[in-house]
Amino acid sequence: MSHSRLTVLAGPTAVGKGTVSTYIRDNYPEVWLSVSATTRSPRAGEEEGVHYYFVSAGEFESLVSDGQMLEWAVVHGRNRYGTLRRTVEEAMSDGRSVLLEIDLQGARQVKETMPDANFVFLAPPSWDEMVRRLVGRGTESVEEQQRRLETAKLELAAESEFDHTVINDDVRGAAAKLVSLMGIEPRED
Ligand code: 5GP
Repeated sequence: MSHSRLTVLAGPTAVGKGTVSTYIRDNYPEVWLSVSATTRSPRAGEEEGVHYYFVSAGEFESLVSDGQMLEWAVVHGRNRYGTLRRTVEEAMSDGRSVLLEIDLQGARQVKETMPDANFVFLAPPSWDEMVRRLVGRGTESVEEQQRRLETAKLELAAESEFDHTVINDDVRGAAAKLVSLMGIEPRED
């Protein structure tokens, strides 16, 4: 098992990466969860600096051209999302166990620059369950759901590029498996 200090969690759209990372944020304070920058607008309940740093297209462009992004990607052909290099490097040099929850394109970029990181693929229990979760979330338009499903099909094929797979059948169990891959003792309760 790898105890690399940087762990990258990626997986298909609507597999529940966000739910697992929220659970980890709430239950495993020993994990330092990276807060990404994004050009998308906040959803209800999302807070600046907690869920994302919400930036304009121009601000994002400057972060990229200044070399401040460890990785970045256009996700679902729309908005840009990226990991801020400095915050991650600081957390790593503080000895924290760092977790990036990013899309597959971003994971591939990190693999180029930090091949020793621990790459974990979050897989759905089944395709049908994944579709149900995506549609059930009800926050996206039908057009947007279709776009995300197309992306998800391609993303499912990427599992073999990863060091480990965690199946997201229930959030608590998936979080426990993920943290144990990070060398952290899972909670019993
Ligand atoms: P959402 O808009 O639902 O919050 O996130 C959409 C997608 O963006 C998710 O698949 C999430 O993993 C991905 N994402 C979030 N932050 C980053 C990031 O910093 N870099 C990359 N490459 N993808 C990200």
